[in-house]
Amino acid sequence: MSHKTDIEIAREASKRPIQEIGAKLGIPSDDLLPYGHDKAKVSQAFIDGVQDRPNGKLILVTAINPTPAGEGKTTTTVGLGDGLNRIGKKAAICIREASLGPNFGMKGGAAGGGYAQVVPMEEMNLHFTGDFHAITSAHNLLAAMIDNHVYWGNEQDIDVRRIVWRRVIDMNDRALRQITASLGGVANGFPREAGFDITVASEVMAILCLARDLKDLQKRLGDMIVAYRRDRTPVYARDLKADGAMTVLLKDAMQPNLVQTLENNPAFVHGGPFANIAHGCNSVIATTTALKVADYVVTEAGFGADLGAEKFMNIKCRKAGLAPDAVVIVATCRALKANGGVGKADLNKENVEAVKKGCANLGRHIANVKSFGVPVVVGINHFVSDTDAEVQAVKDYVKAQGSEAILCKHWAKGSEGIEDLAKKVVQLAESGSSQFAPLYPDEMPLFEKIETIATRIYHADEVLADQKVRDQLHAWEEQGYGNLPICMAKTQYSFTTDPNRRGAPEHHSVPVREVRLSAGAGFVVVICGEIMTMPGLPRVPSAETIRLNDAGQIEGLF
Ligand code: ADP
Ligand code: MG
Repeated sequence: MSHKTDIEIAREASKRPIQEIGAKLGIPSDDLLPYGHDKAKVSQAFIDGVQDRPNGKLILVTAINPTPAGEGKTTTTVGLGDGLNRIGKKAAICIREASLGPNFGMKGGAAGGGYAQVVPMEEMNLHFTGDFHAITSAHNLLAAMIDNHVYWGNEQDIDVRRIVWRRVIDMNDRALRQITASLGGVANGFPREAGFDITVASEVMAILCLARDLKDLQKRLGDMIVAYRRDRTPVYARDLKADGAMTVLLKDAMQPNLVQTLENNPAFVHGGPFANIAHGCNSVIATTTALKVADYVVTEAGFGADLGAEKFMNIKCRKAGLAPDAVVIVATCRALKANGGVGKADLNKENVEAVKKGCANLGRHIANVKSFGVPVVVGINHFVSDTDAEVQAVKDYVKAQGSEAILCKHWAKGSEGIEDLAKKVVQLAESGSSQFAPLYPDEMPLFEKIETIATRIYHADEVLADQKVRDQLHAWEEQGYGNLPICMAKTQYSFTTDPNRRGAPEHHSVPVREVRLSAGAGFVVVICGEIMTMPGLPRVPSAETIRLNDAGQIEGLF
């Protein structure tokens, strides 16, 4: 049986005008700032006006450790939102915007899949409402102001060898990773080594996604460290008077975008920080707004639960005063088989033993999420290659863990295929059994916070770090940054720092290579292993096959 591609299904969507979608949430037309007929920003005035309302229920969708294929967190987030609407709940979803660059490398969008998608998916994966353009511009304005400041006499005494603010572009372009800037003579400034990251890796992106409002945004932008002086004291964006103009550039981007699912239910798509050197969730302002206008808000965190859910709880919820009412852990038989040791070529063959073996990975994620005090249900995202025996093995395993696993067919059937999970989520959320608490208190010393995550979430025995790393953490504690949460940057494929160690490994060590301070975003990034902040294109990039057909439609994107 051949299936339609995501883009073919999306093209057939019967979209409603965006005002109708807003009306479902009680957002008046005047408060929707339309970008075409099917996208709109929600006005700041409307957001200000709903702050006193009670919050709806917050549902987090996370997953087991993924395989390179992606396990369907976004697809399940979209499906569950539709499923909740189907059973009569007023539900909205909140997901991230897509980075444009990677779409021209490998196929794969960020709008869900099959019959659980957000539309217009082509635009969402390309320019959308221009938010990433605004972030790129604000980021690079600051970069230009730094070099300009040095050029005109360097009043702040910036050590040009210690400028830490790089430039960004939303493109996979390895040629820009490390460059020499200001070549060509006296009129062009002081030559120095510089480089580019992809836009989603910008601290400005992380800030936009954590700021509560424009005032908070400007304060955080001012708090960013851009360079150091010869005496090693930090130079802030505020010292260069860049925070005001950056806020102006980001004014519209701060307003959340409203679009719709294939079933015409509301979807907020806003912000898209990296899930490694940043926290990997959509914006706080989208989530908090959605909670004011919907009874159920379903949202997603990037990567597996060891990274995504941990950061969602310890960074986003802590900072925004949010508390999830229930968590859905997405598992697939394919990914469980991979965690049970099966190679990519054999994932479509029945292998109940490998599924059972791989369930150890799922079991640890269930226990970890429960340790935050939040009730859990497992959603088995059904692939056509799954067999009944494999699905039953997962259900039996999860039952033995004291939870329930529910088979979901939203990818093939839309909301009809995910009613059971929607009902279960309602039951868990309404039970009021969530007693959410972050894993560690603000006041815990930074290194102990890292150890807490490594031992409690990764089940490591120890954290390994050079004296240099420990000294750096102490120095930040003395400068008043000790109360910040930790943002772990490690491989998404394993509980360990080795991407090849699947399942639920015990007795491993977590070596910390480097620590970085994101003083504006408000977290300490702990880097374990190689982390890429500017991806490259593959040998045969999908850009070679992307084109417009005779009907003016996009081909080859997905
Ligand atoms: P994640 O958010 O976990 O990265 P996505 O939801 O974006 O994963 O899905 C990744 C890809 O897998 C998408 O192209 C989607 O169409 C596909 N996919 C998701 N669920 C299924 C399924 N049940 N059967 C087949 N393909 C699926
Ligand atoms: Mg996703």
